[in-house]
Amino acid sequence: MKISNNTIDESCSNTREYTFAQELVNNIPYMAMTILGTAIFIVGFGNSLWGLIGAAVYLVYGVAGAFWIMIFVCPYCRYWNSRSCPCGYGRIAARFRDKSVIECFEEKFKKHIPVIVPLWFIPILAGLPIVISKFSWILLVLLFIFAVDAFVVLPLISTKHGCKDCPQKDLCPWMKIKGKPAG
Ligand code: SF4
Repeated sequence: MKISNNTIDESCSNTREYTFAQELVNNIPYMAMTILGTAIFIVGFGNSLWGLIGAAVYLVYGVAGAFWIMIFVCPYCRYWNSRSCPCGYGRIAARFRDKSVIECFEEKFKKHIPVIVPLWFIPILAGLPIVISKFSWILLVLLFIFAVDAFVVLPLISTKHGCKDCPQKDLCPWMKIKGKPAG
């Protein structure tokens, strides 16, 4: 369902705004995950044709996953077309889609986030058997850095920094899981 008002949601007019540099910094963990995952395929499969194909597919999947979120989730977000989106997706999304009803945000988030979840696991599933069968320090280090970035740094930056002050965090399934205070 599309709404006719293509302006920024007034409810986020008093929220924090991010500079281009801050948006870039907030994108680093996802970009690093995509690059590291690509490198795991290249190193793990020793520059073979299958390794290069796997690397190319993973890289395209990572980039496409970002656009998938921009196209299918961001139009339902209060931060669509605003500088209050921590990673800048909201403003890019406005180039592809009109604003839609924010009441559907939780539903759209739950529906579309699973599309990108395999990005967190594919490099590990591809790299671990190789590092076990033909040990390589380079591959082991890449897998370790990938896991730290994907499972520690990325969630930490989004929940403790980018999404911390979001007015819709109570609606967001990600923050419901990750943003719970410890203890
Ligand atoms: S905060 Fe998240 S859902 Fe909202 S516009 Fe930014 S990237 Fe999209």
